Amino acid sequence: MTTTAPSAHAAPAPEGIGAIDRQRQLEVLQALRAHLPEDCLLVHAEDTRPYECDALTMFRQVPMLVALPRTEQQVVAILRTCHRMQVPVVPRGAGTSLSGGALPHARGVLLSMARFDRIVSIDPLARIAVVQPGVRNLAISEQAARHGLFYAPDPSSQIACTIGGNVAENSGGVHCVKYGLTIHNVMRVRAVLSDGSIALFGSEALDSPGLDLLSVLIGSEGMLAVVTEVSVRLLPKPQLARCVMASFDDVETAGNAVAALIGAGIIPAGLEMMDRAAVAMVEPFAQAGYDLGAAAILLCESDGTPEEVADEVERMEQVLRQAGATGLSVSRDEAERLKFWAGRKNAFPAAGRVSPDYYCTDGTIPRKRLGEVLKAITAMESKYGLRCPNVFHAGDGNLHPLVLYDASDPDSLAFGVRKAFDPAAILNPGKAIPTLPRCAEYGRMHVRAGEQRFADLPRF
Ligand SMILES: Cc1cc2nc3c(=O)[nH]c(=O)nc-3n(C[C@H](O)[C@H](O)[C@H](O)COP(=O)(O)OP(=O)(O)OC[C@H]3O[C@@H](n4cnc5c(N)ncnc54)[C@H](O)[C@@H]3O)c2cc1C
Repeated sequence: MTTTAPSAHAAPAPEGIGAIDRQRQLEVLQALRAHLPEDCLLVHAEDTRPYECDALTMFRQVPMLVALPRTEQQVVAILRTCHRMQVPVVPRGAGTSLSGGALPHARGVLLSMARFDRIVSIDPLARIAVVQPGVRNLAISEQAARHGLFYAPDPSSQIACTIGGNVAENSGGVHCVKYGLTIHNVMRVRAVLSDGSIALFGSEALDSPGLDLLSVLIGSEGMLAVVTEVSVRLLPKPQLARCVMASFDDVETAGNAVAALIGAGIIPAGLEMMDRAAVAMVEPFAQAGYDLGAAAILLCESDGTPEEVADEVERMEQVLRQAGATGLSVSRDEAERLKFWAGRKNAFPAAGRVSPDYYCTDGTIPRKRLGEVLKAITAMESKYGLRCPNVFHAGDGNLHPLVLYDASDPDSLAFGVRKAFDPAAILNPGKAIPTLPRCAEYGRMHVRAGEQRFADLPRF
């Protein structure tokens, strides 16, 4: 992505953004050296820079120190030390969070769980996998496939994101409309609390009450424990899956078709929607065979035995036709089904082809109001002059309007809350001081009308 520094008009920086205190860094490093070998601690800027942000690239902060423990005892030691020294700790999995969950703290330790990457056991009879938190989401299904099983929650980032990150974010995905979110598929979590004590949530028995407490810990302020082991529920791999692709000539009708499907008593294995802008962004990249002329397309999956799938696909086609679909096609084989999904799953990376930056918003609304909300988004796009492709988990009513913007354009970056509530910037103006934290990509900085922005500020 082409990026440059945020300006004084940029979105307000979150707490924890600032310069590194070298004296403090040395104190914390020395304290941690007592418990961790040298190759588990990073302090030099060239080593810590790769951790400066997650997938919410709008905010960046190099951590004071990165810890890469290998064992739970080391995690305990890190938390005990940080607790004693009052050092903030931010755990990190693969750094694919779109919410800034893994954004480091300038006075804190970035605790990477990347080395916890072992699948501890798979019990095909109990249908449970015990995994370390740094295991990639997709790796669980890949290993479980040997036993005819799979792990259902499948965020589009599943090739990279970790189960620890999934637990902390309670991640969803295409198949969650039928099989539930992470919290519904996690049975037991072992974690280290902020004072270094070890806690167990849930058990390997179904409907474990301990998970209620886990859902409190996940909370809105970020996970309040460091996950060190997760037991997840595995499901038998359906014998067959087929995907119906439906085209619509307006987004509102497509949104209403989602409600019609659910209203007809159909629970699809996946139900996703992309509008015209999203399809145009994705198709050249994924070559999935999407209808470029449609205002919106729905991808609607059925899985089960061949008989169940045949019956459900027929009912889906019927409802979609009645709801106003202008075109329908059904995947003929597994390769074509995967192709249909490949486009949807690659939609966010494809945004990079049409815009230097994007901001993925995330909100869930009642399914029956999808049509209405999509119409309102279209109206806002023309009102505010923003481009906003829509690609989302329609079956859950979980919208992801992707606001395309150019970080080098201060007016574009200032689209946030301040502009809505305080457009004249009367209250606390200029609080977000230009820090040029994005100068890692300085070489690709935009030059507008022959002038580089903030040329007076020192560069790294
Ligand atoms: C292209 C793309 C597509 C995506 N699609 C989806 C999607 O379909 N559905 C969805 O829900 N999300 C999606 N996401 C968001 C993201 O992938 C998920 O939130 C994912 O769960 C983050 O996992 P991670 O390992 O990258 O965690 P990170 O980004 O590293 O961290 C996320 C949060 O988890 C915490 N954390 C990580 N590991 C631990 C641990 N061991 N203990 C305690 N806390 C921990 C971090 O502190 C942070 O708060 C997508 C992201 C991208 C870039």
